[in-house]
Amino acid sequence: MREMFLPQELPKNYNFSEVEPRWQGVWRDEDYYFDPGSNRPQFIIDTPPPYPTGNFHIGNAFNWCYIDFIARYKRMLGYNVMFPQGWDCHGLPTEVKVEEIHDITKNDVSRDEFRRMCRELTLKNIEKMRITLRRLGFSIDWSKEYITMLPAYYVKTQKSFLQMLKAGYIYQSEHPVNFCTRCETAIAFAEVTYEPRETQLNYFDFDGVEIATTRPELLAACVAVAVHPDDNRYTMLRNRRLKVPIFGHDVPVIIDEAVDPTFGSGAVMICTFGDKQDVHWWKQHNLELRKAIDRQGRMTAIAGKYQSLKSSECREAILRDMNDQEILLRQEPLEQRVGACWRCKTPIEIMSERQWFIKIVPDEIMTAAREVKWTPLHMFLRMENWIQQMEWDWCISRQRIFATPIPVWFCAQCGEMILPEDSDLPIDPTSTRPHHSCKICGSSEVIGEEDVLDTWMDSSISVLNVTGWNGGSSPQIFPAQLRPQGHDIIRTWAFYTILRSVALTGKRPWDEILINGMVLGEDGFKMSKSRGNIISPEEIIEKYGSDAFRQWAAAGATTGSDIMFNWNDVIAASRFQTKLWNIARFILIQLKKKEFDHATVPTTLADRWLLAKLSETTAEVTDAIDQYQFDRALKALREFSWNILADNYIELVKGRLYSDDTARESACRVLWESLDTLCRLMAPFAPHFAEEIASYLGEGSIHRKEWPAHVYADTEALDQGDLLSRLVAGVRNYKHERGLALNAPLGRITIFTGRITDDAGDIARALNAEVVWQNNREALEKKAGDVQFNMAVIGPLLRKDAKAFMDAVRALAPEQLINPPASLHVGGKEITVPEGAFSLQFTYLVGGELVDVITVDDVIVTVRKSP
Ligand SMILES: [Zn+2]
Ligand SMILES: [Zn+2]
Repeated sequence: MREMFLPQELPKNYNFSEVEPRWQGVWRDEDYYFDPGSNRPQFIIDTPPPYPTGNFHIGNAFNWCYIDFIARYKRMLGYNVMFPQGWDCHGLPTEVKVEEIHDITKNDVSRDEFRRMCRELTLKNIEKMRITLRRLGFSIDWSKEYITMLPAYYVKTQKSFLQMLKAGYIYQSEHPVNFCTRCETAIAFAEVTYEPRETQLNYFDFDGVEIATTRPELLAACVAVAVHPDDNRYTMLRNRRLKVPIFGHDVPVIIDEAVDPTFGSGAVMICTFGDKQDVHWWKQHNLELRKAIDRQGRMTAIAGKYQSLKSSECREAILRDMNDQEILLRQEPLEQRVGACWRCKTPIEIMSERQWFIKIVPDEIMTAAREVKWTPLHMFLRMENWIQQMEWDWCISRQRIFATPIPVWFCAQCGEMILPEDSDLPIDPTSTRPHHSCKICGSSEVIGEEDVLDTWMDSSISVLNVTGWNGGSSPQIFPAQLRPQGHDIIRTWAFYTILRSVALTGKRPWDEILINGMVLGEDGFKMSKSRGNIISPEEIIEKYGSDAFRQWAAAGATTGSDIMFNWNDVIAASRFQTKLWNIARFILIQLKKKEFDHATVPTTLADRWLLAKLSETTAEVTDAIDQYQFDRALKALREFSWNILADNYIELVKGRLYSDDTARESACRVLWESLDTLCRLMAPFAPHFAEEIASYLGEGSIHRKEWPAHVYADTEALDQGDLLSRLVAGVRNYKHERGLALNAPLGRITIFTGRITDDAGDIARALNAEVVWQNNREALEKKAGDVQFNMAVIGPLLRKDAKAFMDAVRALAPEQLINPPASLHVGGKEITVPEGAFSLQFTYLVGGELVDVITVDDVIVTVRKSP
């Protein structure tokens, strides 16, 4: 038998602004720590480390809600859960912010000083974001917090670099890369976004051949002209060289199948580099390399008199000069998709540079990606497409400052690469020296690598970091169980993590990946400052509380699809809390009235029915969370609380609760169990709210209790109980239609069914009626009564015969009225009975007394008419 706990009465109103911070003050961080010594099954979540902007935005918060639902749920199921919190610090936005705050450029101070400023700003921002995380009630394991800019983390990034370098995955090469001239750094293909742009296609005379180009500023970098082999217009060009207009250097004409003869004039100029196709031709035909644009986006010396112009200025100047020389033939507008920098939207340039690359082995990555379970499944296709279209290796070097240094020196004499020992790490090769001199030439003069690592090199080992990797092979608790992330970073974070895990450990990084959608503004557009549609989590918490926000995240959209922010959904969540609070309050008042035995076995139909419904709901919520369908879980919870428990069950047993009936204890036991189960099921979604109600119901935090697993299978009770609740609803509706109060006495009602054998008197009490159960339909007598004529049909058709027709109908025998003849003899002639001319009223009797009839499903209920 369970202990007797006399529940307390709930206050009248639920006040989230008092309750939520109170529980946040009570809960201890230690309750959420991953226990490395535990023998419970592990559930490690490879959480995304956000960029520390100082503002934990609604998209982050949405993502974290999913993570917290799962973490809390898994803990209640008995898992040893790890919910770490990382911060992905490095990168340009912070550099730009620091320059702004201190009113400097990065070159005004030493690299060390600049990094120090970046770190300082980052730590301040992290502190601000931690506060929001706590306010949202996320059960984070703060002992597993990591900050990628701190030595404890970036030593691992450097180790992973060296390990992959030694394994042959990493190499240096002069190769064309995507370059952002505003960020002044190379970027990876995954960081290029393609956006439509209106531009101009310029036709000009190229040494007698008409050529169309959108980028005349690249004329100085022209290295060939290409035509299609079957294009008869250009057969005379074969084996010729052409003189480049304005600049005057000679270039070969090459023949290539890849030229589109229908674009422009069918002859194209190849420049190093206008686009990816140029790179392809350049390699295939072994062409010269001419760099016309530098890292700042200005023209180089080979551009002659245009040198040091910005590329856009150079374009205008060249078009002007072409016009003056009368070689500009015509211009057409053109819709084009242009690659732009992911972060700053500047159109990228393709430049050949000495850079560091990671070799991409598509098969290896695909095999591991297939071993991971993807939710929703279609997101795997995005990964598959990305892997299949992979043409270039991953460029991992960046020409920035605030990033993990590439831990490599070069011998100043012979150029040999010199690597640090693992024990020397972390290092900045620009400010430290190796312990030994060059093994090839013996020189002790070295040059430290100035390039730094792509920030994805930091974040792509997040899972290795949290599982305790520190160089070498995979840790014991690797792989993690779950990676939750947005669909916008599938081809970056997800892809790179798989690549790195395979390269470093030979294993997949996680068992499952869960992809969430993006949060859109109320207007359906991506939230942005310029649209003014940004809503912060703080604003929502202030108005409706964290739990309402969390419920919005769960209920607002199916997993994986984008979610539009909507205040109404938050308000609906808050209303549901009010409803559930009122239900709990009612229940607790009932439970408090009189002690009851928690071990009571419910035997009445309504009680068995509710337990069976509760069991169904528990199964539905459990299955939904297992499949990460949080909207479905919440829908089931709301449906049960609102419709089944409040509107049906409580109405059905209220009379019993107010009585001294012996079955009262059974109802109390069921109400107590329902409320306790609801608190547990709600705990992952609304942790403060569930904890608050549960604290009135029993001892101990709800978050340390078990997930409900009880199965109460009773198909008979389900079937009969559904009917029972519909019968009550049907008769209540009858009362309502007649303007009767719901508790008005109803006299005798007869229910014609054999399906329910015993309701323990619940219906009688709920309807304030005397109930007779009748299995014999013949006890209900049906009599033909008055005839009602439809004058709108009869009048126009029969005119002066109408009255005689109606008399003839009234004279018909009852059975003829039920099945009327096709025609009637009226005043000496046959009259066809018009369709819909009359209808027959019936009267019903039970035991000789007149009754009203209500139909519920296939069951008839009669109510004795008041005498
Ligand atoms: Zn950029
Ligand atoms: Zn050397």
